Parts: sequence; C-alpha cells; structure tokens
Amino acid sequence: MTATTENGSIAWKYATEGFGIENLPYASFAPAGQEARLGVRIGNSVLDVPAAVNADAAASSALRAAVAGPNLDALLAAGRPVWEELRARLTALIGSAAAAAALEENLHDVDAVRLQLPFTVADYVDFYASENHASNVGRIFRPDQAALTPNWKHLPIGYHGRAGTIVPSGTDIPRPKGLRPEPDGVPTFGPSRRLDIEAEVGFVIGAGVPEGEVKLADAGDHIFGLVLVNDWSARDIQAYEYVPLGPFLGKSFATSVSLWVVPVQALDAARVTPPARTKPLAGYLDDSNAEPWGFDIALEVVLDGQTVSRPPVAGMYWTAAQMLAHMTVNGAGLRSGDFFASGTVSGTEKNQRGSFLELSWSGKEPLKLDSGREMSFLEDGNTVGIRGTAPGPGGTRINFGEVAGRIRPAR
Ligand code: MN
Repeated sequence: MTATTENGSIAWKYATEGFGIENLPYASFAPAGQEARLGVRIGNSVLDVPAAVNADAAASSALRAAVAGPNLDALLAAGRPVWEELRARLTALIGSAAAAAALEENLHDVDAVRLQLPFTVADYVDFYASENHASNVGRIFRPDQAALTPNWKHLPIGYHGRAGTIVPSGTDIPRPKGLRPEPDGVPTFGPSRRLDIEAEVGFVIGAGVPEGEVKLADAGDHIFGLVLVNDWSARDIQAYEYVPLGPFLGKSFATSVSLWVVPVQALDAARVTPPARTKPLAGYLDDSNAEPWGFDIALEVVLDGQTVSRPPVAGMYWTAAQMLAHMTVNGAGLRSGDFFASGTVSGTEKNQRGSFLELSWSGKEPLKLDSGREMSFLEDGNTVGIRGTAPGPGGTRINFGEVAGRIRPAR
C-alpha cells in the first residue's frame, strides 16, 4: 500500500524517520492518570485508537468492538479482515488534512504516556532459526561433534518457554540464581556467573484455531505483527540443566519484548527469500513456491550506550511461516495471543553475533569495550538495548524502537 500524506495531515505534521505513515505500530498506552487503551504511533506521538475509530463514520461495528479494550487482545482475536480494516482506516485518517484537527485532540506525546505489555501472552515458544547461531553454540557446547545437530536442517528446533515471565521493555532484570556446573562435577547453587542476552525477533499471533494445522500459505491469517525480543539467558544454569530435555530455568526467568508491535503489513518491502535450502524439506515445511516469509530487519545490540553487534535477520534459515506451520503440524491449535520468537539472530561475522556467549566465545575471547574494560558476560548494572529497523516502501524506514533492560543484583 502506498499511503498518501496530504499537506496538513497529522502524518505530514508529525511523522519522523522510521515512524512515518508506512509504519504505524501499535501499543497499549495510558495517559497520566487515565486507563490504558490501544494506541498507534506517528512520529513521537501516539494516537488514541478507540477515540479515532469511534469518531470515524466509515468504521465497522466489528472494528469498533475490536479496539475498545486496554490492549491488542480483542483486535488479535478479531482476525485479519479487521486488522486490515483498522490499518486502512488509520492510514486514511492519518494521511488526511481534513481529519487532522479532530485527531490532534487525541494525540499524546510518547514521552508523556505510560506504555505497558501490548497484549496478553498466551503460549510462548522460542525457536533456534539462525544457522550461524546454532553452529556457534554447537562448536562452543559440543566441540567434539558436528556444529549442527543432524535434525537441524529438517525442522525448526524450538522449545516451550514461560509466557508468564515475558516482560515489557524497561523492566529491570534481577540476576537469576540456580545450580551452576563446577570443575569437580558437583554443582553449586548461587547467582548466575554467565548471564547473557539473546537478540531475537518475536511474532504475535492472532485469530486462534482450536486445532492445527496452519499451512504455510495461511500464515498471514495468523501472524499479526513483530516485536524485538531479548531472551535473557543464564548460560551456566542452562549448560548444567539442558541434558536431555532442553532449556528450562536458565531461560525462564525473564524475556523482554519491545512495546510497539509492528504490523506485518508494514513490512512488505522488508520481505526476503530465505537462504537456499540444502536439505529436502517435508511438504508442510517446503516453502520453495511460497510467498517469502523472511524479513530484512537490521538489529543493533547496545551495551551501556556502546553498539557491540549488528545481527542481520535477513539470513535466518527458518522463516516465521515455517515456524508456525511446524508448531501446529501435530494438531496443536493456536490461541490468540500466542507468541513465538526466532531464536538468537547471528550473522556470519563476529560483530554480527546476537549473544555474548558467541561474542566472547564463551569467555575465551573477551570483548574490549570503548572504555578499555574487557567483558564476557553481563555484570550487575549493565543495560542492554536491542534496536531494529527495516526497509519500508519507497526508500522509507520502519523503526521497531527498542527492547531494553538493566541487570540488578540477585535477590
Ligand atoms: Mn532464545
């Protein structure tokens, strides 16, 4: 969709690079002293969505109902036709000069409102879709074996995470405690010594289905939008506990998500074909003739103000559509509000790795920071932000904002 922006419209008056009419990400926001509601961002302002929709004579009754709640939940459940109607109406209003005066009454400065988790998280699945990341972790954790496990190119590996510990950007992260491996083979209990990040992209699901399976071609009916994810990880706890059932307490203490949900429709210009498949795929995963579900999103990992990595999402081996098809192929249904993340995004280069495990090669090659200090894993007081941008239509940019968190001492 090429949006028009009339002179005098709120897009014309307020849009900034990355937050123009091409983007229009959603959030749950509360003006000072007021209840939370659904908002859409233009520039550094947030528009009150229910106020704008209720004043719009062209809005359907289904749309009015879907935007009435405190967050995205009702909209996610309403399904794709309503998602498309909302975006079309907001694009028309925000680009219209005639609508500007009325909309301006419902516009708030983003710095003057409280943002909260944009949707109620149902089930959470975390994948492992980056070949570079999986290869690096294989070399670090299992140096005597092949870098990739034999199944890796045949299915998108994932595990069920903990939905209740998904937290909004800005939430402090207490250092987790747990059992840590020791050289003598006897674990000790205490604060993690190898606290890490995972730079990921997350996919917000709407329009639940009671039982599977969601075909590749139908992914667009269920993937509503994208956020940035920091899947905090305690590598020592993880290394001790993960055999043979996989990640557990080393992963489940906190997963941070960004506060603006970028609709899939804003990312048409960012769609990319995934890398060439080097193993034949089962039919339900075979995307050789499917619309491309890779995304050219550029991530940036910032530690205490210093950029330490720029992971590229475009090279991810498994796509969002394949992950969705895989998690439902056994008959498991979806619930509106389900959420899945890509797994750590790592590129081919050292400065494109999406975890400190890889950036410091498990502590063997510490990072030299601009301050002159060396570091391998996170210290108390460190703040990590992950930012993301993608190409928009006509040379514009789509900004995802940031997911940030600060490490607090163990409780
Ligand atoms: Mn992860």
